[in-house]
Amino acid sequence: MKDYTTSADVLIVGAGPTGLTLACDLARRGVDCRVVDQAEGPSTASRAKTIQPRALEVADDLGVIDRVLQLGAVHVPTRHYDHDRVTSEAVEAAIGTAGPGVPYAPVWLSQPMFEQILRDRLTELGGRVAWGSTVATVQEDGDAVEVSVRTATGEQRIRARYVVGCDGGRSLVRRQIGATLEGVSYGDHRWWLGDVRIQGLDRHCQHLWMSPEHGILSLFPLPSTDLWQFQASIPADDPNPVQPSLDLFRRILADRAGLTAVTIADADWLSLYKINVCLVDRYRIGRVFLAGDAAHIHSPAGGQGMNTGIQDAYNLGWKLAAVLGGADPALLDTYELERRPVARAVLDDSTARLHAVMRATGEGDGSSAQRGLTGDFTTGLTIAYPDSPLTSPLPDSDNARVRPGDRAPDAEGVQPGSSRTVRVFDLLRGPHWTLVTFDHGHPAPQSTIDNPLAVPLRTVRITTDITATGPDVVLDTDGQIHRIYDIGEDSAVLIRPDSYIATRFPIRRDDPATPRTTARTAQTS
Ligand SMILES: Cc1cc2nc3c(=O)[nH]c(=O)nc-3n(C[C@H](O)[C@H](O)[C@H](O)COP(=O)(O)OP(=O)(O)OC[C@H]3O[C@@H](n4cnc5c(N)ncnc54)[C@H](O)[C@@H]3O)c2cc1C
Repeated sequence: MKDYTTSADVLIVGAGPTGLTLACDLARRGVDCRVVDQAEGPSTASRAKTIQPRALEVADDLGVIDRVLQLGAVHVPTRHYDHDRVTSEAVEAAIGTAGPGVPYAPVWLSQPMFEQILRDRLTELGGRVAWGSTVATVQEDGDAVEVSVRTATGEQRIRARYVVGCDGGRSLVRRQIGATLEGVSYGDHRWWLGDVRIQGLDRHCQHLWMSPEHGILSLFPLPSTDLWQFQASIPADDPNPVQPSLDLFRRILADRAGLTAVTIADADWLSLYKINVCLVDRYRIGRVFLAGDAAHIHSPAGGQGMNTGIQDAYNLGWKLAAVLGGADPALLDTYELERRPVARAVLDDSTARLHAVMRATGEGDGSSAQRGLTGDFTTGLTIAYPDSPLTSPLPDSDNARVRPGDRAPDAEGVQPGSSRTVRVFDLLRGPHWTLVTFDHGHPAPQSTIDNPLAVPLRTVRITTDITATGPDVVLDTDGQIHRIYDIGEDSAVLIRPDSYIATRFPIRRDDPATPRTTARTAQTS
């Protein structure tokens, strides 16, 4: 058995959606990072199957959105049944649509396919996952963390400046650093779940049975595969549910659906799933961070687990890169300050949705049960960091709709001298901060666009003056960008690398102050 030591700036433990998002983000910023996973290879079990609008915006920034849209499906209708009789079929209105400011509606795509897309991107960026590598111990040691990793060829020691535990609900990293996961297990909310092949069923929609006697049965066609995700609620009064099997799934289909021409041919994955609702007390202890399911676990109602993990990673990535590049390490404290309250809200929301769905099912009201699964909150677009130290609040007199701490919305303008459409997201895409100045004819004075923070900063002028020219100028010919950003007087908006607004302020031409950014901790030391 060999025992050897290597080093990395960041060690990511776990190559699920959280770890892979973080790895892609760090790799594109040129950070020396390693990803290890105890599994011998990627999981093929479907699990999460919705990528919410905000996570799609992350996918856009990471350069994988085209592949996601190519393989995924939007607006999958739901066909409701009363036993073998179809009662309705519709696309659930509450699910959300794309439009000005919001380029992506939720996309249905199974977790393994999304992970594959991220792994491909990581490979393009020069990274890879070390499979068959189980982290056994994690110990902070001065200015680094010592991690022991077991592989088939021996034990490896990795010294990393930072470690991020993206190692899922049973996180070893969490236990090693002494963080506590607090919460409850909903023993009476259990599901049989699996990936099956079905013959005789129309694949253009989800098929859903909800009844007081039988509970819920959902058959969802997983896009770009020949598989269906099978989900059946286990009766609350069943103290010892049987283990999942193909025969059991066939029996449930016959009992709850009674569609004699429909058969389950085989299965790739069968499981019994119990709902836990838990949140970790600390997201960071010293040089070790927790993200994704390692930090929060909740009900799948609302489809938030994978999506919240993706956003944890996206919040942490640019901060780690900045600190490794010389920024004040206090920047890293804002990760827990910003993300833990979001997880708390996700837990509360998904638990409330779970109870509402079970109640409506008990009352035999399948449509309202289905409606209760989604809403504005589940899109991820309303998440905001108004109280973060990185956010500079507006003066009380300013009632702008788009405020510091909010997500920066998308909008469309035109490139000068051409009819090419330019999206705000085209300007934000990449690892930099963005200072956007808005004007109606007079460019902002140079002092507004100086970069006192010395952070990687892209400056862009958005103007309604259609005679303006220049490489970083966008013509807002019909005023859409001004409207969506709620810009009255000429203003500047400073946008963080993760596309949240740090500050906005009016441009004073007579008293040209430098940007009033309070992104103090991003300042290089
Ligand atoms: C049945 C089911 C249905 C779900 N439905 C949805 C849904 O509809 N929508 C949604 O958003 N979410 C859903 N989820 C949740 C979603 O699957 C998780 O939130 C998501 O997988 C979390 O990603 P993660 O990267 O944080 O952790 P994981 O995906 O759990 O990845 C953790 C990785 O860490 C590795 N690992 C663990 N320990 C070690 C170690 N000691 N050393 C090295 N590697 C280690 C594991 O092998 C694993 O690959 C569902 C989950 C389940 C189980």
